[in-house]
Amino acid sequence: MEKICVAVRVRPPVKSSSSEDTHTPWKVEQNRISLHRSLPSGTPAPPALSYTFDHVFDQDSSNSSIYDLLTKDIIHAVVDGFNGTAFAYGQTSSGKTFTMNGSDNDPGIIHRAVKDIFAKTSLSTDREFLIRVSYMEIYNEEINDLFAVENQKLQIHESLDRGIFVAGLREEIVNNADQVLKLIEMGEANRHFGETNMNVRSSRSHTIFRMVIESKMKDASDDDYSTLDDAIRVSVLNLVDLAGSERIAKTGAGGVRLKEGKHINKSLMILGNVINKLSDGAKQRGHIPYRDSKLTRILQPALGGNAKTSIICTVAPEEVHIEESKGTLQFASRAK
Ligand code: ADP
Ligand code: MG
Repeated sequence: MEKICVAVRVRPPVKSSSSEDTHTPWKVEQNRISLHRSLPSGTPAPPALSYTFDHVFDQDSSNSSIYDLLTKDIIHAVVDGFNGTAFAYGQTSSGKTFTMNGSDNDPGIIHRAVKDIFAKTSLSTDREFLIRVSYMEIYNEEINDLFAVENQKLQIHESLDRGIFVAGLREEIVNNADQVLKLIEMGEANRHFGETNMNVRSSRSHTIFRMVIESKMKDASDDDYSTLDDAIRVSVLNLVDLAGSERIAKTGAGGVRLKEGKHINKSLMILGNVINKLSDGAKQRGHIPYRDSKLTRILQPALGGNAKTSIICTVAPEEVHIEESKGTLQFASRAK
């Protein structure tokens, strides 16, 4: 089992017109983040809490540096036949989608991964590639296809030849990066189909963008295919933008919101348990509760074994978000 790479990213403070105060109690130094609450007298207090991770990215960091340090290796391993998964975890508005999708000036991890995969595969002289993509959301423990609005409430199946799969999920065969990016745009539009408040829905669902990369040796004989281990390879990359991790109690939600919140909290807790067991190493591992949520079940093949996994935990810098930020850092610590 590969070690899970855990990183934290602090987003820049939101500039509000009413307040010039961009003070943040979080301090980033190299791979450490600590909480400094200033004393009433104004003198700085010693850190109340301090955590270290594989990487900590401060508010000036770019998606490009995050891609290079956190995701690039995973993408390259996936092209070489290993499975990989990258997650963004954090409360709503902490920068998960910014990290995954990016902006025009600074494209996110998904965009960079797609470009990189086509760049790598097109350079290969000894293998031919077949690449398929799919895009789904898990909302209230229901799986919906973002490439086909009619595909709702899809079920997870398992078979000998396909392993664990989402039955009926649309997979598009793709030949270049632009084609994939257009499909994602379409998926984003589908996601908001019939929604009055787009942000509400998107912050309450997990989205999984998946690429399946199949390759075979060029000029191999039938004999090679039956005898050579890597004559044919299939690997899966999952890029996951998780639902907002905020606790429900704070928002005083009822009805639909409460139901959503319970599903989110439960599936994030199960994800935390799964990752915690995986990172504990083989000995203490025991039973891994993949089956307890749709998210972990879908990701199961790309989490254990020799899969490469990274988690970026995004933190809102503002003082009002301290409690949620602490929760995020605790999640991150458990994943190490
Ligand atoms: P989340 O997906 O976690 O709810 P978003 O990614 O939507 O949060 O971020 C909330 C807001 O903050 C968005 O307007 C986004 O553009 C902005 N933002 C987040 N992270 C950054 C960053 N690192 N640099 C600049 N703007 C950011
Ligand atoms: Mg988001």
